[in-house]
Amino acid sequence: MRQSELFIKTSHKAPSDEETEGAKLLVRGGFINKEAAGIYSYLPLGLRVLENITAIIREEMNSLGANELLMPVLHPKENWQTTGRWETLDILYKVEGHGGKWFALGPTHEEIIAPIAKKQISSYRDLPAYFYQIQTKFRNEPRAKSGILRGREFLMKDLYSFHTDEKDLEKFYAKALNAYKRIFKRLGIKALLTEASGGTFSKYSHEFQALSDIGEDEIFYCKACGFSQNKEIAKIREGACPKCGKGEIQKSNSIEVGNIFKLGTKYSSPFAVKYKTKSGEELEAVMGCYGIGISRIMGTLAEINRDNRGLLWPEKVAPFKLHLIELKKGLATKAYKSLQDKKDNILYDDRDTTAGEKFADSDLLGIPYRAVISQKTKGKIELKQRNSSKTKLVSINNVKKLL
Ligand code: ATP
Ligand code: MG
Repeated sequence: MRQSELFIKTSHKAPSDEETEGAKLLVRGGFINKEAAGIYSYLPLGLRVLENITAIIREEMNSLGANELLMPVLHPKENWQTTGRWETLDILYKVEGHGGKWFALGPTHEEIIAPIAKKQISSYRDLPAYFYQIQTKFRNEPRAKSGILRGREFLMKDLYSFHTDEKDLEKFYAKALNAYKRIFKRLGIKALLTEASGGTFSKYSHEFQALSDIGEDEIFYCKACGFSQNKEIAKIREGACPKCGKGEIQKSNSIEVGNIFKLGTKYSSPFAVKYKTKSGEELEAVMGCYGIGISRIMGTLAEINRDNRGLLWPEKVAPFKLHLIELKKGLATKAYKSLQDKKDNILYDDRDTTAGEKFADSDLLGIPYRAVISQKTKGKIELKQRNSSKTKLVSINNVKKLL
């Protein structure tokens, strides 16, 4: 893409209404635009990042054999009354429609997926079944002050699994846990598998926590073996690690980027999601749910990967792989055309502006590779990685190979 055709501009000034450094950079770089506390637009560059994160998650969900679907944002009040959560869930947005009919704006989708599953499941032969979606959620969060880390409207991947029994759930839960590990590895996030409260069958549910000073969660963890518990439930305290005995338990703030949960029959029971066993007995299906905060991941990456000049996107999620910069009008057009491919991996700074401004913008945007063409490079390209200060002169073929 030509930067002259990118209609969103960067800004030198940090926004006064953002508290975290990552959020400030995302706004300055033109990745997001704040509409109100916890409500953001994802601008062209930000959308590209979200889509790259989503693609990785979608791939891993499909590899689990889960079916993708898309459920509504507007949920009938009756569904939420069935589980009792119309009254008890304090973050639920409630909206009135025609004829005094009430709806909830979906903060999560157990109340929708369970009735869908009920229609499909009648026999043990219909199980297990796994459904996921990538969708905008709404939560009336009381404190939405950390940029896109805690949105009132945010993008989530939610997966729901249905099983004949606890043993089958255990099997899938372990697989989903491994898929989550792969996802965070691919996204370049060190996420600690953390025990948290609220498990059915097992003592714990599991959260994936990324260490960060500005995180709203607090965890105890062992640097040596990675054992970790959320402070809310923690039995462990600072001292020797009860798991490996070698490491020291430390306390840190952290960001919850995902969690997985054994639900048991909490939602299958009120919606009567039942199946017939081989012997004809009727039993309630057992459920699990598995969430990942896609927009929160984007915010987390911005908090974790940055320096005083700007963002440093990991290659797999970066809005572009290469930032091609010309220091004289038209000097890099030929190179751009020859490097262009279907993936549209290159941002070509063809703007009529100073070298200083181009370099500052390049650092702010955090594209992994910077390629400069000037009169001094004499037909070659000066290549530099965003996270390094070393430059080298390479041929256009070298850059092609890199892409
Ligand atoms: P938290 O403890 O942060 O409030 P949660 O435990 O309520 O989150 P879930 O309901 O399980 O989270 O949602 C699944 C995932 O969605 C979370 O792990 C998190 O990554 C993300 N998430 C939850 N709430 C928000 C929010 N308000 N804004 C952005 N992402 C969120
Ligand atoms: Mg939580």
